[in-house]
Amino acid sequence: MTTTVTIIGAGLGGLTLARVLHVHGIAATVYEAEPSAGARTQGGQLDIHEHDGQRALAEAGLTAEFRAIIHQGGAASRILDRHAKLLLDEPDDGDTGRPEVLRGDLRRILLDALPADTVRWGKKLTEVTALGDGRHELTFADGTTARTELLVGADGAWSRIRPLLSDARPRYAGAVFIETYLHDVDERHPAVAEVVGDGAMFALAPGHGISAHREADGVVHTYAQLARPADWLDGIDFADPTAALARVAAEFDGWAPELTALITDGDTPPVARTINTLPTGHRWDRTPGVTLLGDAAHLAPPAGEGANLAMLDGAELASAIAAHPGDGEAALTAYEAALFPRGATAASDAHRILDLCVGDSAPFGLVDFMTGVS
Ligand SMILES: Cc1cc2nc3c(=O)[nH]c(=O)nc-3n(C[C@H](O)[C@H](O)[C@H](O)COP(=O)(O)OP(=O)(O)OC[C@H]3O[C@@H](n4cnc5c(N)ncnc54)[C@H](O)[C@@H]3O)c2cc1C
Repeated sequence: MTTTVTIIGAGLGGLTLARVLHVHGIAATVYEAEPSAGARTQGGQLDIHEHDGQRALAEAGLTAEFRAIIHQGGAASRILDRHAKLLLDEPDDGDTGRPEVLRGDLRRILLDALPADTVRWGKKLTEVTALGDGRHELTFADGTTARTELLVGADGAWSRIRPLLSDARPRYAGAVFIETYLHDVDERHPAVAEVVGDGAMFALAPGHGISAHREADGVVHTYAQLARPADWLDGIDFADPTAALARVAAEFDGWAPELTALITDGDTPPVARTINTLPTGHRWDRTPGVTLLGDAAHLAPPAGEGANLAMLDGAELASAIAAHPGDGEAALTAYEAALFPRGATAASDAHRILDLCVGDSAPFGLVDFMTGVS
């Protein structure tokens, strides 16, 4: 194939696609809205699974680089009730098959493995026009344009490419997550360090959850999870972090103080994230010259799979393009035939896991799920 593949979005999915294409000797250009690689901290830790994320990294030829960034011991997990009573404790014995890494580190090893001019930073796509015969014209916020014969929307939940293929829009999934960070926990928050342990901690009750993750360098990253109506956040003034944290903590009245401290003692301003989803089983008719991957294709509630899946999509799409030289349509047909069922299964699992975390069966439903009872 002589065509350069045009990718919108330098998230983990778009970068994995670009890297695996590069491994196959196929050129790609990635247009990314953010002004630079370091413009934003990249969020917390991700567990990278053998069957998707690690597979994608192997196809990218980056297994050694991945192993070098693993947070050793960080894959432990435990489930508690609201009184901090331990219901399940799974230590990281080094053999979980899902080691933890920082998202920023993962993005860096992908970026470092691409030719220098692959990613064009500060290129926010504002408009895309179909020119016929599978060709598209892209217009960016800086007024520049580009043309492409093979376009991939790796631009996340609110994809600008998706409307070329489908009318689906993300809708609210019924939960809000409020994100907090505590630093230097062993010294400054020893009770929190103790209750969270070495890895992931899920303290759950119907309608509420606190999930926290111990990251490298004494950082604990927390999501307070609440099943509330979409407008519930409107009554909270996030410009006043202290008041906002107190308001969120009030939803956890009666919970163990070492759990609510994960909210009230937050060292950074809280960030609210509404959880959105595309319809489970989202798909589209084959449309010449364009496809989607990752959240753009199958956005679902966070369940520890989305980034892994985006990377596998990227690797699979690159392999399909390499396997069909000169025939982009055959490549996209083969890729989508596997993408649709994979995305549908993952989305249905993700909705189930969200329900296990904040639905009526919490916390025991998640314990049963993790121990293989249900
Ligand atoms: C609270 C929360 C916790 C999560 N935790 C986990 C977890 O533990 N494990 C896991 O596997 N997944 C997790 N996920 C899911 C995961 O973050 C996503 O599934 C994953 O990031 C999707 O990758 P992507 O490459 O498809 O899209 P993204 O990571 O969203 O990347 C899209 C890129 O496109 C760029 N972009 C967007 N619009 C434009 C435009 N118009 N022009 C140019 N560039 C554009 C963006 O700036 C971004 O860089 C979590 C999600 C949330 C909300």
